Amino acid sequence: MYTITLLPGDGIGPEVVAEAVKVLISVSNRFGVKFTMNEHLIGGAAYDATGHPLPQETKDACLQCDAVLLGAVGGPKWDNLPVELRPERGALLPLRKLLEVYANLRPAVVFKALTAASTLKPEVVSGLDVMVVRELTGGLYFGDKKREEIPGGYRVVETLVYTTEEIERVSRRAFELARQRSKKLTSVDKANVLESSRLWREVVTSLAAEYPDVELSHMLVDNCAMQLVRNPLQFDVLLTENLFGDILSDQAAQLTGSIGMLPSASLGGGVGLYEPSHGSAPDIAGQGKANPIATIMSVAMMLRYTFGLAEAAVAVEAAVVRALEEGYRTPDIMEEGKKLLSTREMGDIIVRYTENH
Ligand code: NAD
Repeated sequence: MYTITLLPGDGIGPEVVAEAVKVLISVSNRFGVKFTMNEHLIGGAAYDATGHPLPQETKDACLQCDAVLLGAVGGPKWDNLPVELRPERGALLPLRKLLEVYANLRPAVVFKALTAASTLKPEVVSGLDVMVVRELTGGLYFGDKKREEIPGGYRVVETLVYTTEEIERVSRRAFELARQRSKKLTSVDKANVLESSRLWREVVTSLAAEYPDVELSHMLVDNCAMQLVRNPLQFDVLLTENLFGDILSDQAAQLTGSIGMLPSASLGGGVGLYEPSHGSAPDIAGQGKANPIATIMSVAMMLRYTFGLAEAAVAVEAAVVRALEEGYRTPDIMEEGKKLLSTREMGDIIVRYTENH
């Protein structure tokens, strides 16, 4: 039996999480696995109810379960709150720290049925399947920062901190993932300029001896940004630090065409955090227009990485592929001649195909 904490959050979060829950129930029916799911507040919804975007009760529930499924947080209603109470800063970063999820996995997959949705030419992206592994709890985002007044303006200092151990643990995850995929790992840094990148490269290189079956290469981040749009098919697993990973994972994601399709997993401590890569999409919230596939694919990642249920993960992924191949679409991925579905209808089709393969 596995315990899952559900954090639907704001905007379209509750709509897409509801569909993912239906898929988990269908996995339970087909594979006989038992899931206990408990819902808790996060983000603007939590602020409205309790005065804080990440209440203690939610933190406790996240620490006591096997995996967390998060929808999305934020929206215009909470944009003017003090920064520490805003849903993103007050809930997302502290939740990642709390769970010590130092490795963020973001796959960018171009489904055959959706090749035309990419802004790049079909021959450049057809068959794309890249996994970006981003270090999530160190680097520039967590280092000391200060701003001081100087004559004529300000002087700011941001600190980029990494230790050997921090680099090593996320790199191991990336090597292990590469091992399960096509055994190709590209580590991305800026070793020609940054001392942190030189240490990054040394640590990754020293680990390579333990994974002789994985082909390791290094690439400078500026070149990687260029190669991702020039020839993305050359990549399998991309490993990089926090800031570079933030940018490159969005860039890789965009190659696939729709943000509504992109899942993510954040791993490290005992509890995995799974969430779609998109935000709360206030512009379409409550209208049944949200694509639930990113959240459903996040559930597939949960089944694979936290529960070790690879067969169930494959069943969910296959159900998504089948729904797309049969022409079912939510508005964000709609093309002429296809069948337009609401959030709930898309969830229903994927549930049906997960149960009856
Ligand atoms: P967003 O991802 O919410 O939306 C960007 C665009 O993509 C919008 O046009 C939206 O309608 C569309 N979109 C997003 N998800 C979709 C889906 N599943 N199906 C169909 N279309 C989808 O980003 P934004 O507009 O920059 O941010 C909106 C709010 O979400 C802000 O408050 C932001 O801070 C927050 N946000 C939260 C997270 C998170 O919770 N992890 C991440 C990013 C942004």
